[in-house]
Amino acid sequence: MKIIDAHCHLASTLTTPQEFFEGISENIYAKYVAAGIDAISKQEILATIMRSQNDHNGDQLKTEQREAGIYKCCLLAPDFSFAYEKEPTYKQVNDHHIAVCARHKEHFIFFAGVDPRWGQPAADYFESIVRSGKASGFKLYPPCGFSPSDPICFPFYEICAEYKIPVLLHTGPTSPSLTFRYNNPSLIDPAAQKFGNVNFICAHGAINNWQEHILLAKYRANIFLDVSGFVDSCTGVSWQSHLAMIFKCGINHKLIFGTDWPVFKNKGSFSSLLDEIYGANFGLSASDMDNFMFANFNRLIQSEPR
Ligand SMILES: [Zn+2]
Repeated sequence: MKIIDAHCHLASTLTTPQEFFEGISENIYAKYVAAGIDAISKQEILATIMRSQNDHNGDQLKTEQREAGIYKCCLLAPDFSFAYEKEPTYKQVNDHHIAVCARHKEHFIFFAGVDPRWGQPAADYFESIVRSGKASGFKLYPPCGFSPSDPICFPFYEICAEYKIPVLLHTGPTSPSLTFRYNNPSLIDPAAQKFGNVNFICAHGAINNWQEHILLAKYRANIFLDVSGFVDSCTGVSWQSHLAMIFKCGINHKLIFGTDWPVFKNKGSFSSLLDEIYGANFGLSASDMDNFMFANFNRLIQSEPR
């Protein structure tokens, strides 16, 4: 069976600034303190995270995925340059992803990430890399401080419509150094209605705010959900129980497999994760499982008309 991991990131300080991890290390520190572990400081936690961001060319990621039988991987390029007002610039981030995809062209594709507030020059840059076939989709990160239905996003959606590529937007919680204000699923609906010929993937949508996301995916034809982050679902039940419930919601043609590596890297290898998925006995038919692990996402990036 073919498997695409539709949601991964490069673990690299070249593409993600330290500010993003500062907020995350604060949350880890608070947990340690509550557990009576106060021998480690916030700065040490941050330093440990930053040291782990060393797979700059995706070599380790590709090796681990290929060992597990993962056929292809979609890297999502983050553009935090507007929100944190610092480098890497969107060009540096996306050009680096283009280089990684060229280095491992049998394994990686990527969705280009641009903060839409960079305006027309950024839209022109985005169009140039889409036109040259280097990007397979558009990655949007609303927690940087904008709604996905803000008209500033529309020039980018128009490019996606013209080149028949999907938009993937982050939903749900993020680093506390960014805002949680724009994580409501309904924020995407005006854009999804206006751009009915563009497919929108709500990243983590089957995990965070999942009830509202499921309604959107069920009744809005161009909205899809990925399950990335599932190993840390906040639903109070095991991730296996959560996914089993999601698979009974009548949207199996809309669900996309993704891990969000390296975010949950310390929870186990790709091989052990896949063993658990295939051993979970979700009761899915072979074709539903194939759609989930491969075909639902593959149809979107193959740009077939809906
Ligand atoms: Zn992610």
